[in-house]
Order: sequence, then structure tokens, then C-alpha cells
Amino acid sequence: MPKQAQPPRVRRQPQRTCVACRDVEGKRTLVRVVRTPDGTVELDVTGKKSGRGAYVHASVECVQKVVKTGGLSRALNVPVGAEVTDQLLARAAEGTGQQENSGA
Ligand SMILES: [Zn+2]
Repeated sequence: MPKQAQPPRVRRQPQRTCVACRDVEGKRTLVRVVRTPDGTVELDVTGKKSGRGAYVHASVECVQKVVKTGGLSRALNVPVGAEVTDQLLARAAEGTGQQENSGA
């Protein structure tokens, strides 16, 4: 009998919690917001930036909710500026697939 093998590691599928609605999702529909080591907050569209991350659905509803409740600031432990939330909103508007061709 061989020595007892190490139990196989159960790798959990990466799942993220939306800071707005607390739904757990695969990261597909979530946008990562990262607090960089500098202490600045930015969107991480690549998912590769280092720093503390928080996730929110790419939906206007959830973004507005975190703006209102300050959930993002709480999750990242720093104030999140309007610049970032504006970007999130823009992203959310794109992500929902509602394409408004309002004659640009
Ligand atoms: Zn959400």
C-alpha cells in the first residue's frame, strides 16, 4: 500500500460577491474595482490589477445601489470617487446590452 495520498484539493470555482446585492456569481457579469497599493481606486477591466478588489454587477441598478449605500467604499476601505462610479455606470450601461442608438 502506498503512503496515504494527499487528499485532492477541491478547487472552488472563483466566485465573487456583488457588493450591492450580495449575489454570488461567476465573475462574468461582475466588474472588478480595485484599490491599488497607492490607495487609488480604479476599475479593473482586465481582472489582473493587484490590490484589494471588490465586485459589482455590471448593471445600473447595482452600481446605483453601491453609490447610494457606500458599499464599495466600505468594501475597499477607502472613499470611492464619483469618477470611478461614473465609469462603473458607463460600463453598466454598456454591459446590459441595451444599445441606444440615439442618433449620435
Ligand atoms: Zn449586484
